[in-house]
Amino acid sequence: MSLQRRLTIFFILIVVLPLTAAGFVVQRAVVSEVSQRHALTLRPALRASVVRYNDRTRLMNDLVPLVLQKAGSFGLLLSDRRGGKVEQVLGARLEEVEQLDFLIALDKRQRVVGAAAKRGSFAPGFDRPSYEEIAAAPPGPGAGFSRSDLFPVEVAGKGPVGSVVGGFWLDDSLLGGNSEAGVDTFIVVGGRVIASNRALEAPLDVELPDSDRGGLEMGGPGQAEIQRLDGDAAIVAWTSDAPVEAISDQVIESLLGLLALAVIAIAILSHFLARLITRPLEELSEGAIAIAEGRFDHRIQIRSKDEVGRLATVFNEMSDRLSQTVTDLASSRDSLQRAVERVGETLRSTHDMNQILESILNTAADAVQVEAAELWLLTPGRDELYPAITRGSDGDHLAVTPVGEGIVGLVAERGVTVTLPAEGGGPRPSRGERGWPVTTATPIFSSNRIMGVLALHRHDESTAFTRGDVETAVFLAEQGGVAIENVLLHEEARKLSLTDGLTGIWNRRYLQMQFRQVLLTSSRFKRSFCLLMLDLDNFKDVNDKYGHQRGDAVLVEFTRRVSGILREVDTFARYGGEEFVCLLPETNVSGASTTAEKIREVIRAEPFFALGDEPVPMTVSIGIASYPDHGNLYTALIEAADQAMYRAKNDGRDRIRVAGTPGLKVAK
Ligand code: GH3
Ligand code: MG
Ligand code: MG
Repeated sequence: MSLQRRLTIFFILIVVLPLTAAGFVVQRAVVSEVSQRHALTLRPALRASVVRYNDRTRLMNDLVPLVLQKAGSFGLLLSDRRGGKVEQVLGARLEEVEQLDFLIALDKRQRVVGAAAKRGSFAPGFDRPSYEEIAAAPPGPGAGFSRSDLFPVEVAGKGPVGSVVGGFWLDDSLLGGNSEAGVDTFIVVGGRVIASNRALEAPLDVELPDSDRGGLEMGGPGQAEIQRLDGDAAIVAWTSDAPVEAISDQVIESLLGLLALAVIAIAILSHFLARLITRPLEELSEGAIAIAEGRFDHRIQIRSKDEVGRLATVFNEMSDRLSQTVTDLASSRDSLQRAVERVGETLRSTHDMNQILESILNTAADAVQVEAAELWLLTPGRDELYPAITRGSDGDHLAVTPVGEGIVGLVAERGVTVTLPAEGGGPRPSRGERGWPVTTATPIFSSNRIMGVLALHRHDESTAFTRGDVETAVFLAEQGGVAIENVLLHEEARKLSLTDGLTGIWNRRYLQMQFRQVLLTSSRFKRSFCLLMLDLDNFKDVNDKYGHQRGDAVLVEFTRRVSGILREVDTFARYGGEEFVCLLPETNVSGASTTAEKIREVIRAEPFFALGDEPVPMTVSIGIASYPDHGNLYTALIEAADQAMYRAKNDGRDRIRVAGTPGLKVAK
């Protein structure tokens, strides 16, 4: 169930429940009031009937003797038992006296001689008693009548001749009350209604309660007030509960109607109230969904300055910040991606150590966004670090730092990453380092050996490196280590394929490569260069005389001596068995001749002692060819130098010859 529906139901309930309770109380109050008022109408009705009864009872004993006094010769008629005449007289008298309903004449032996009565009006099923029964009953109320005392009738001179009794019917005429006003009066004798102020259709029995007031069933529930008469008779004023119940029903109906109207009104009101409350919540939840779906541009409308309004404001600010963060993240991810691509490309495409180190440093500095970065390398002695490449920090202020000292020294010694600020302060920078408040330094491993340290710095202390920053630095340092390892391996392999296994100097392949390079430069700048072809004289004899091993040692010693003569830019290569070539850039024939002479001298100057006691005197024959004089191709120049060298051999060995100049002797 939605919150709005729950709130609506809640609002309806908190209004409807008290309203229903109030309705119930009102209904009870109204019904109680009505029934009390109703009950109040009983008393006057009862009193009217009782007063009438009492009046007639009182009059009854006064009136009967009076009737007899006026009767004149009645005594004689009675004594003669002239029943018809007696009845005539009694009937006439009865007409004159309104308050009496019957008169009965009795003879001396109490037998009825004659009687007259008015018609009584009784309830259905009740037959008034006979005159004999009335005469036999005691004075006072009986079943349907109330009779007087027995009054003797005397005749002068004769004495009593009989008696007369009169009375009135306990019938409808005695009853007051207004049945139309809702009050019924009844005369009840022996549990049977004998008279009623309203027309009864059938005999009605009633069980009177012990008390004189209270509920009484009389063909339906009702309230009664009872006046008990002498004997078995009682006058009852009764009112039905039906009108009260009808009023109660009416009240309930009205209240229910009102309640229904109230429920409808409250439901509508509650709906809008609930909507008012839930709408901002719905908007907030829509906003949350939008954020969850990555729609950070979603904004919540701020409708108020209350708690919900503040929540909406904060929500909007949060999505702004999220949006900014996502943008920043995306851009930093892009830049990181670009940096990684760039470093990957660089590391793949180059074997230039410097370029690789630079690329690692720049990539790390960009990816982690630092103000300064340095790449420290271990010196060949592995006891110091020097700042090989720097960015953002003035390299002049940096100096060699011993391993174990400062931050980079500690990293190089322990092989762990150190990040500052750290708990407990961390290591302090050495004199060679510059102190930065925010630093991370991570070792660069190559072939499982530390070869350097990558250090990154920020000067704002509030922008400490995150775990991600440090991981990026460590990752790039690892990549750098792998790349450096590759370069070293590559260089090693290259060296192996380009150097001579025995002497360690360049081989023919390398010579050829270098030749191309030198040729290119020389042709561009129109400069000359020279080739020297060196061949040891009578070397076969060394082998033959001292063995091959001794011959090898002589070759190694020979290259050592020649290397000492040559410049840094010169290339010294083993061309064949005991034939060597020197490539001398930027050198003309004259310069080359000088160099050749120095070589010839250094070889012949001292015998070779290596690997044997007996000194081996050696000499070398050298041929010189010059670019562009003797050719502009490798083969042509080699050929020219070779031929010059052979000429030197032919001319007696231990001498120097220049190509194309058969007669020219540079030395000897
Ligand atoms: P020449 O003065 O005419 O040059 O006389 P030579 O004895 O030096 O003659 P040649 O240059 O033809 O002889 C080359 C000899 O060098 C042949 C071979 O036994 C020897 N040799 C070539 N390479 C090596 C090597 O690597 N080690 C040793 N010990 N000897 C080698
Ligand atoms: Mg040779
Ligand atoms: Mg030789």
